[in-house]
Amino acid sequence: RPMTRTTTLRLLALALTALVSAPRSEATQHGRPRLVVTMMVDQMTWDYLYRYQARFVEGGFKRLLSKGFNCENTRINYIPAYTAIGHSSVHTGSVPAIHGIAGNDFFKDGKPIYCTQDTLVASVGVPNGKSGQMSPRNLLTTTIADELRIATNFRSKTIGVAIKDRASILPAGHTTNGAYWLDDASGHFITSTYYRTDLPEWVKKFNARGRVKELLSQGWKPLYDLKTYRESTADKNDYEQPWGKKGEIPATLPLDTKKLMKTEGLGVIRTTPFGNTLTFEIAKAAIEGEHLGEGEETDFLAMSHSATDYVGHRYGTFAVETEDTYLRLDRDLADFLSYLDKKVGEGEYLFILTADHAAAHNLTFNKDHKIPGEALRSDIARQIIDSVVNKTLGANARVIRAYFNYQVFFNDARIDSLGINRSALQRTICQALKAKLPGVAYAIPADEVVSAPIPEAIKTRIINGYRKRRSGDIFVIPDPGWYSKGSAETPRGTTHGVWSPYDTHIPLIFMGKGIRQGHLYRETNITDIAATLAALLKTQYPSGCIGHPITEAFAPQD
Ligand code: ZN
Ligand code: ZN
Repeated sequence: RPMTRTTTLRLLALALTALVSAPRSEATQHGRPRLVVTMMVDQMTWDYLYRYQARFVEGGFKRLLSKGFNCENTRINYIPAYTAIGHSSVHTGSVPAIHGIAGNDFFKDGKPIYCTQDTLVASVGVPNGKSGQMSPRNLLTTTIADELRIATNFRSKTIGVAIKDRASILPAGHTTNGAYWLDDASGHFITSTYYRTDLPEWVKKFNARGRVKELLSQGWKPLYDLKTYRESTADKNDYEQPWGKKGEIPATLPLDTKKLMKTEGLGVIRTTPFGNTLTFEIAKAAIEGEHLGEGEETDFLAMSHSATDYVGHRYGTFAVETEDTYLRLDRDLADFLSYLDKKVGEGEYLFILTADHAAAHNLTFNKDHKIPGEALRSDIARQIIDSVVNKTLGANARVIRAYFNYQVFFNDARIDSLGINRSALQRTICQALKAKLPGVAYAIPADEVVSAPIPEAIKTRIINGYRKRRSGDIFVIPDPGWYSKGSAETPRGTTHGVWSPYDTHIPLIFMGKGIRQGHLYRETNITDIAATLAALLKTQYPSGCIGHPITEAFAPQD
């Protein structure tokens, strides 16, 4: 019997929908996944996977834990543990000594430089200014995204997205099809002329939606009754950094983000869970706009969630704000994973969750709980260094450039021109710091660390973290629990950077194509991630990779 017109139309519509939404059926080369997604959760300590788990939904972190391969003891094998280095090391399988990203800020050719700063390029998407003068040029090695491009004769597409410029640029690498980050003044995602001369249509369209304003207009209300946040300190406490010029807006929930954006600007989204929501949204826009996971070759999306770091710095590791941020991130993650199931196909993509570093507990919080650790005073460190130099070389020597990153930076040109014995100067300063600065476990000349009588774990991290002419000349290692502070003010929120487990023990879970379900308890390193990806994707290792593939994670091959 002939079908009625409406039935035919309905069937046709169904067939079309199937065509549009169904994942592509033809196989990618060498059994590679259709899409690789790295999700960096900035400042996520490994223990959050467990501490906050009771309230995780089924499809988010819990899905990664139950379906993925969990490398429980993944450590950062260099110091300092900072954002730019973490993002570089995850994607290069390398360390500052080799990939050259020696901090968020470091020295290059005797001048202070921001990790991705590049004055040879201009902003794209906003009037030219510093926010867009960025590129991966200071990164000296390839990333795994570069290697995937090389392995497929540049047919694979790779994209980086994050609120932080460095978190988008460094993972995506040198050969990428695009890297996009947030410009605070406009609330728009931008790029630089290193990549292209005009924003692609999908980024323009995304920017036109004005999502930053929209998200902030909702206000930040806690997901649950505040009394039920049992993994956090009560909301009113001395550990958190209030808002406003004089701290007149308390660090409590709910937070009127609509009002706050009027006084602090759109960049305030960085310090709210909405920054993570925005990141998932731009990630989805990238998948659709660039047709990631639809082509004949494997594509790569490097995605970093920076809001957790800003929230952590302001509120610390035991705040309801931090707990709420992770519970919301978990829900957003569940939504994103089911989106990938629909868009790319369940089991057709490879998903990696990890972090660039973890975080310490607030110093007052530690003190209140009798946990050792105080402020390692960077202002006093500088005074000690200057007074030693003045005493031995006179007030006009100017041989010290700076003290930051737990490092003392020498002015090599001055030292050479004055004919100063560099090793002797290093030793004198080290002795003074050890004798006079409370909380210094070791102060060590960076290029003499091999013979220093210190534990292997610390020695390795100094050697890996030291890049000649970019890093400092002396490494200061604080006692556990101590962290750098520039004044005697009450320590608010927290920070990260040292070798101790609380800063260097990060989550690492692989899930999806080529991965078996399981746990691994032997220690692995941040540098093993890119090596594992290279093995799974059948690409060459990135050019500075020193890691090893975590073969326990691989699904049995047929
Ligand atoms: Zn970070
Ligand atoms: Zn940070």
